[in-house]
Amino acid sequence: MDLKDGKGFDFDGIKEALTAQDPEKKIHLVTIQRSKGYQTRKTLSVDQIGEAISFIKGIRPDVTCMVDNCYGEFTMDKEPSDVGADMVVGSLIKNPGGGLAPIGGYIVGTKECVANAAVRLTSPGLGKEVGASLDVLPQLYEGFFMGPIVTAAALKGAIFAANCYEKLGFETFPNGSEDRYDIIQAITFHKPEGMIAFAQGIQSASPIDSFVDAQPAPMPGYDSDVIMAAGAFVSGSSIELSADGPIREPYTIYFQGGLTWPHAKLGILKTLQNMQERGIAKLD
Ligand SMILES: *Cc1c(COP(=O)(O)O)cnc(C)c1O
Repeated sequence: MDLKDGKGFDFDGIKEALTAQDPEKKIHLVTIQRSKGYQTRKTLSVDQIGEAISFIKGIRPDVTCMVDNCYGEFTMDKEPSDVGADMVVGSLIKNPGGGLAPIGGYIVGTKECVANAAVRLTSPGLGKEVGASLDVLPQLYEGFFMGPIVTAAALKGAIFAANCYEKLGFETFPNGSEDRYDIIQAITFHKPEGMIAFAQGIQSASPIDSFVDAQPAPMPGYDSDVIMAAGAFVSGSSIELSADGPIREPYTIYFQGGLTWPHAKLGILKTLQNMQERGIAKLD
């Protein structure tokens, strides 16, 4: 169900879908994605998610509500499980892994949902009593312990980036002063050069592979070239300093992460230097 005008929930449409009489179309599970992916819509707040869940449960109390909480963890003082979600899932190479988890995801929620997921992931009767832990449990626990403060650093970097780029006249989502419900900072350039200069600035500030020249290239699953900058300790980890986006209108780069605030700041300063040197923005 698409969001209405790309913003809020389409409550009429949701009601219609939930009350469909055709048994083939009977809905058992609703999934809600908190973050925006490669879109310029707003990230959903936990309160907005709670409103949708109350609405859904008011019509169909038997429906399971699951939230993909990726990038949102610890950015607010509550989580979707506080507002009625039956099940909440996310990635441990983002906020709740604190940069230390090398792999993995989490599932939290009602006892029934967690148990059902566990028997699916292992086997009936064994549930979460067994399973591959790949010798990484200490990193998962330490990462989870560090998660909130690492997320705070990433948030601070995102706010700094929004404020810098807003002052230079670029559109920023969210803007420099809005409330934030995840760590993603989108900046729109309306031309590919801006995205490329930004991504290459982030790459040059990376602790690993800082010499690498990030370039747009085809990616499975995308209909345009994609540029990705990430010189991370954990490959693919986007709680580490990173920036990416599809090379297409409106030419928006999605920036996130930074395990520490000083590193996030360095990365953003490097992007600004590229903007100045390539004549994309005038800093003085
Ligand atoms: C990153 C992400 C995932 C996947 O997480 P992985 O740990 O990379 O598998 C799923 N959903 C959303 C919205 C994400 O941002």
